[in-house]
Amino acid sequence: MNVAYLSSEVAPFAKTGGLADMAGAIPRNLQKLGVKIMVLMPLYRSIKESACPLVKTDIRFEVRIGNKIKSGSVYKGFLPDSQVSVYFIDNEQYYGRDGLYNYPGIPKDFEDNSERFIFFSLGVLEVVERLRLRPDIVHCNDWQTGLVPVYLKTRYAGRSFFENTKSVMTIHNLAYQGCFWHWDMKLTGLDWSLFNAKQLEFYGKLNFLKGGIVFSDLITTVSKTYAAEIQTPEYGVGLDGVLRERAGDLYGIMNGIDYALWNPETDKFICANYGSKNLRGKQLCKKALQKKYNLPKRDCPLIGMITRLTDQKGLDLVVDKFQDLMKMDIQLVLLGTGDPWYHEVFKRYARTYPAKVAIQLSFDERSAHEIEAGADIFLMPSRYEPCGLNQLYSLKYGTVPVVRSTGGLADTITDVRQAPVKQGRANGFSFKNYNADLLFATIVRAVDLFKDKTQWKNLMINGMSQDWSLEKSAKEYLALYEKMVKKG
Ligand code: ADP
Repeated sequence: MNVAYLSSEVAPFAKTGGLADMAGAIPRNLQKLGVKIMVLMPLYRSIKESACPLVKTDIRFEVRIGNKIKSGSVYKGFLPDSQVSVYFIDNEQYYGRDGLYNYPGIPKDFEDNSERFIFFSLGVLEVVERLRLRPDIVHCNDWQTGLVPVYLKTRYAGRSFFENTKSVMTIHNLAYQGCFWHWDMKLTGLDWSLFNAKQLEFYGKLNFLKGGIVFSDLITTVSKTYAAEIQTPEYGVGLDGVLRERAGDLYGIMNGIDYALWNPETDKFICANYGSKNLRGKQLCKKALQKKYNLPKRDCPLIGMITRLTDQKGLDLVVDKFQDLMKMDIQLVLLGTGDPWYHEVFKRYARTYPAKVAIQLSFDERSAHEIEAGADIFLMPSRYEPCGLNQLYSLKYGTVPVVRSTGGLADTITDVRQAPVKQGRANGFSFKNYNADLLFATIVRAVDLFKDKTQWKNLMINGMSQDWSLEKSAKEYLALYEKMVKKG
């Protein structure tokens, strides 16, 4: 089985969210199952300037973007500790700048994002052909690669090299669709006849992800509940109808976590390692976290949040109840970046409640690990959540999740009310309706149970003992690939 895995971000090379974690880990797990897999991603400036050991290949290619010919070259590296090749598509004009989709700290997308990812989509097909590794599957991820299935069924349909190639489109977050003004059709080189409501057009705009959904051979998303949710108007972000039409080809495969990177027993970022049989290290991590963020070293519940600061993540509920939360004996550490409005709000909270609230408004991998290890409770009240990784990291780190039950959060978190703690299945706290009172009541329940040290320890151990590793996800992807190849 030959697979070309395409992603606009791959950890550890470039990351803005969970997509990168998955794109860095799933190929490694697929290779362990015997799949011949290569990863293709853009060569952003940050990667070029980093210490990553990359080698320039002699591959050069040219593609037509609108009425211009653009050329690219290719660098090669490997996913860390693996034999998985990563091919980096280089073009100074498109990727030689700071940021992946926008300048860091400026929440406005680059104006040429459509052009940048049209170039990437065409470029990867050219590169795969030059590498002479005929792929059985081209696996696309999110809108940035949404045009690839379209090209495979149109411009590249006549190329014998891709004759037996099937495409998979994985949706990591339906809210990001890659919608651009209709004249960008000219840049794609695709026929205007495709610009219709059943294919690429979306309320007068060109929609890359819609193209991927309509033209791919199979669609997956990152949890079973989200796969069902996105077929409803409430969660479908305008594409629920298109997804319902393809319901027979739409599968939910839960993401998993890379225990090589996220495991408190081996984590290199935290001050003391620990596991479910020896939790002493977690107490040390909590003290270290309180020290780092200048919070008093007390045994009150420490709530952690690591998140993009966007409406998706349920921050409006937190803001709504903030004064009430501050009346409780808790501490909160928040790590995040995003919407400037939330930056200001949380800065104000940190100033007003310095003994209770600490914030770090940046993207920082080390701090993320330290918070997972040092917090008692992890708060994730998402409005919607395709899968969510942080609740899975939290389970492994004995940091009890408090979540809104939606998407992948519904599939992974079992409330103590649903199953007794002693039976082992309960691993956190959840609430169903998107409502600030319910969020508050759920935090109160968690804080109350925290006082019962035995119950709390059992709850932590339940989560730490569960297996959310990626091997299972990789097996499910492979089964789907095999099914598609067999179907011919
Ligand atoms: P999403 O992909 O919607 O952002 P996920 O929970 O699936 O949410 O994945 C988020 C990933 O990004 C996790 O690995 C999380 O630790 C990381 N992350 C988010 N914000 C930050 C930040 N400010 N600093 C470090 N890591 C972050």
